[in-house]
Amino acid sequence: MEQETAAALAALAERCRGCTACPLCRGRRQAVFGVGNPAARLLFVGEGPGEQEDRRGEPFVGPAGELLNLYLKAVGLRREECYIANIVKCRPPGNRDPLPEEQEACLPFLREQVRLIRPKIIVCLGRVAACRLIRPDFRVTREHGQFVEKKGTLMMGTFHPAALLRGPQQKPAALEDFMALRDRLLALPE
Ligand code: SF4
Repeated sequence: MEQETAAALAALAERCRGCTACPLCRGRRQAVFGVGNPAARLLFVGEGPGEQEDRRGEPFVGPAGELLNLYLKAVGLRREECYIANIVKCRPPGNRDPLPEEQEACLPFLREQVRLIRPKIIVCLGRVAACRLIRPDFRVTREHGQFVEKKGTLMMGTFHPAALLRGPQQKPAALEDFMALRDRLLALPE
């Protein structure tokens, strides 16, 4: 089953690499599909690739990715256990937020990733992902760390690691969110 999922994800990634469904394809070095365990119980979703991700073809690398890895390690999770993806797969110019129409064009890839991986928990990293996947008026500063259930999947929004690098005063709150996440994962039935 895991091999079938991996093969389906690989085929989807191939389609993603050639996608021209929105103007973001024009500025990319490469599409950044997502990485991780095809059988992951935990899926992280950010907003889109930055400069380093566009260069390396993997989401959450560079300083923001290193901070994410630190949070995972602090609560006993390993990056390899999770799956990590973004709302849009191609880098928005100048690291601006992806436009609503770009998000809409790209969402079929994420929906298919979710359908194939079937994570038990989805964590939205930052406002863009949380507003798109949890609720359009989601406020990260007020609602981070709160779990809601949507169609049988637990969802939670927390700070984007890049935002934590800019505003380190929120780091303790983010760590609490990750501790709550670990507790939820431990409480999941096998
Ligand atoms: Fe296609 Fe998504 Fe890239 Fe737009 S951002 S070109 S929809 S893969």
